[in-house]
Amino acid sequence: MDNQIHILSSHTTDGINRQQRARLADLVQFARTSSPFYRELYRGLPDGLESIRQLPITNKKQLMARFDDWVTDPKITLEKIQTFINEPGLIGAPFLDKYHVAITSGTTGQMGIFITDEATTAVSAKINQQAKLSWLGISGLLRLGLRGIRLAAITATGAHFGFLSGIHYMQNSSPFWKDRVRAFSVHMPIDELVKQLNRFQPTLIMGYASMVALLAGQQELGRLHIHPLFIEVMSEKLSEVEFQKIGKVFNLRPYQMYGSTENPFASSLCKQGWYHVNSDVVILEPVDAEYRPVPAGVMSHSVLVTNLVNKIQPIIRYDLGDSILVKPDVCPCGNPRTAIRVQGRAADALVFVKPNGEHVSVPPLLFVTLIDHMPGIELFQVVQTSPDTLRIRLSYQATYNQAQQNDQWQTLYAALSEVLKGYGLNFVSLERASEPPRQSEGGKFRLVIPLPREQEIPAV
Ligand SMILES: [Zn+2]
Repeated sequence: MDNQIHILSSHTTDGINRQQRARLADLVQFARTSSPFYRELYRGLPDGLESIRQLPITNKKQLMARFDDWVTDPKITLEKIQTFINEPGLIGAPFLDKYHVAITSGTTGQMGIFITDEATTAVSAKINQQAKLSWLGISGLLRLGLRGIRLAAITATGAHFGFLSGIHYMQNSSPFWKDRVRAFSVHMPIDELVKQLNRFQPTLIMGYASMVALLAGQQELGRLHIHPLFIEVMSEKLSEVEFQKIGKVFNLRPYQMYGSTENPFASSLCKQGWYHVNSDVVILEPVDAEYRPVPAGVMSHSVLVTNLVNKIQPIIRYDLGDSILVKPDVCPCGNPRTAIRVQGRAADALVFVKPNGEHVSVPPLLFVTLIDHMPGIELFQVVQTSPDTLRIRLSYQATYNQAQQNDQWQTLYAALSEVLKGYGLNFVSLERASEPPRQSEGGKFRLVIPLPREQEIPAV
């Protein structure tokens, strides 16, 4: 296996294309030989590959259902992984002594388990680091040198989420980061989070977009007093208004990348506001609802991702669900790589109003990250059905019996109540829905559905 992956080794479009074709051919060949799932899927295909479009499309549900056949190292089994991820003490620790594990629900509500080897982890870490250093620029780096590196990761804790396990991985693998990075749980009461951040005084912040927006509000209210030099907002797409508010409050330009657990090779944001795709390690194909290619300049229905580096768990033409638009002409920033815009997952905050009239906005990820990793749950959805009611729709794995479902509802109820309490929202009631999660009209699936606008609480 190719452990010497030279990233960004070519800067011409021709060179990048050549590298992409060679890596794709290599990956497909490897998947055919080493993954029983792909061997079966590609059975009728010719040996030589003329176009990526000859290959069938895959998705999370299909791949997760055939997990043991999907992976190319037979030592990895779903059973072993599940034992591993049910142990929070092992977050960031290597699985089978060499693999990095991350779980995700993504936009589909379906849990995915993703495994990367050392080489893939190193490539994504390097790409990420380069992008952030160039965003900070020389003057930012100098100021950082003067004030010291203290990175606050605002994240969900207690499960193997990609972000958190990345932080633990950093701490475990490098003495430099051990005391310079600290994870702050999004599930702690907001006042406590503010207090701890005031004490830590981070110079760098990485956090779920909606949580960072919430913190900007706290800083504006004079409760939070921090002066970070770099903020990366993650996982959700913010509205332009929120994005600018963060920038104004903290006096910087927030950084955002486009990537996911399935595609960790972050496309980096340029100063012109476009994401440049690292096309030598990843292929993104914008498609319409029938999986036909969408031309540049048109927003796609979804995007198919092919990860050209990770051979442990081949991700080839995998339906990611995001809508993207490819820039039809060359980006004015000078970077020749393909530039895209992303209509990512919207961070639909749930808005509640306290008896004293105060509006409280709760980031959807607070709920998602709690339910996400609970055993037995196949799909979930949180719906705000009235100004003070949340309805929880759950569907369970077939093997999960009624008694287990009831027990788990009690656990979930307690955990969600605790989160609401942390925001002073004890009056919000939680309903266990009898119906399963549903798709919205456009066929897209939303994990969290706020109250429709017309029913929204009028401003006081
Ligand atoms: Zn650009």
